[in-house]
Amino acid sequence: MSNIVVIGAGQAGASLVARLRKNGHEGTITLIGEETSPPYQRPPLSKAYLLGDMDLERLYLRPLSYYAEVRVDLRLGTRVDRIDPATRQVHIGDEVVPFDTLVLTTGSAPRRLPAAIGGALEGVHVVRDLTDVDAMEPRFGPGAKVLIVGGGYIGLEAAAVAAKKGLNVTLVEMAERILQRVAAPETSDFFRALHRENGVDIREGVGLDRLLGEGHVSGARLSDGTEIEVDFVIVGVGIAPGTALAEAAGLEIDNGIKVDAQGRTSDPAIWAAGDCASFPHGEGRLRLESVPNAIDMAECVADNIMGAGKVYVPQPWFWSDQYDVKLQIAGLNVGYDRIIARPGSSEGSASFWYYAGDRLLAVDAMNEPRAYMVGKRLIDAGKSPSPDAVTDPETDLKSLLK
Ligand code: FAD
Repeated sequence: MSNIVVIGAGQAGASLVARLRKNGHEGTITLIGEETSPPYQRPPLSKAYLLGDMDLERLYLRPLSYYAEVRVDLRLGTRVDRIDPATRQVHIGDEVVPFDTLVLTTGSAPRRLPAAIGGALEGVHVVRDLTDVDAMEPRFGPGAKVLIVGGGYIGLEAAAVAAKKGLNVTLVEMAERILQRVAAPETSDFFRALHRENGVDIREGVGLDRLLGEGHVSGARLSDGTEIEVDFVIVGVGIAPGTALAEAAGLEIDNGIKVDAQGRTSDPAIWAAGDCASFPHGEGRLRLESVPNAIDMAECVADNIMGAGKVYVPQPWFWSDQYDVKLQIAGLNVGYDRIIARPGSSEGSASFWYYAGDRLLAVDAMNEPRAYMVGKRLIDAGKSPSPDAVTDPETDLKSLLK
């Protein structure tokens, strides 16, 4: 009976072990995680949990008792230092844990500001782990001045929570517009207007020159020469995949741990899934940073460990909550050449449909669940409605599915 070790007790690791047991794997399973909390959902960390609207227990993916019930040896607060593929062992300090099959679900780590520009000052936070959020939450008092560096989803969600809690929020985005890396200008415009209505001072095309302060951050000099006072800073400038263990073990890396279409790394006994893994996609490779990808890929890898021989084909979707707006995204917009705007069905709602030629690639739906649902079903089925039908407010969206 094979002995499976999984490194990384996050979304993908938890999904993988559950699936292995569901599939009837009878051998031992060890799930090793550096954090001290049982596997939990990260999305609420920059949304409901940060706002104080969600209890800790509701973050957990499953109650702690579940892991013992399904005979998963969950080892929390345990960092794996090294993998030895030749002897099939992982090293935790002086302890050695053998494996027949190893899975890497090591996630990703937030990029931090260099110490040379003040990144190591007290009061400079990132949002990745529960401990990050618990450390910054007491600073969220009304009237506090927060600088958010980075206008991606995490920075914008943190800005929305801070504004709702009555803080003075300044957000700087070095690129020409917020969400530039991930969304069309129309979506950026929608969220810029939403944040400005809520009092957030968004400055685009403006980077951070350096943070100021002795010991604790007290100010920031921006790239346009402006200096502002700050009480604390939240840095949301992207993440790097957790490849260190794999790289040191000599596994192939290509924008993440390189896996084949089934999720196997360059060593046939070692697999990878979730944020840390890049998989074949079209002519190239893709690495996704989302909950749906972590779950679906982990489940596919679990099936393949048990011999299913499945190819991992992602069906991407994503969401973001800011103020009273729920953004739902279906598909991947990479390579789009035009945007079709569909008027919203109520005030403050809208949807933007991304096309490459006549092919529908993705939909951004703001408070438009129906546009999201129809768009997702169309994209998953490889169908593309005519842009004229999409843009016509008289079109019943469901009719596009026929
Ligand atoms: P993780 O959940 O990060 O788990 C990896 C785990 O591996 C970590 O616990 C880490 O400590 C552990 N680990 C790493 N190295 C070692 C080691 N050497 N030894 C032991 N343990 C190790 N996605 C969405 O789809 N929608 C959202 O709205 C959304 N919002 C987000 C908001 C925030 C604030 C964050 C941080 C992420 C958000 N995401 C969202 C992304 C989503 O949470 C991730 O894509 C998902 O958690 C990836 O799962 P994973 O298992 O690959 O990695």
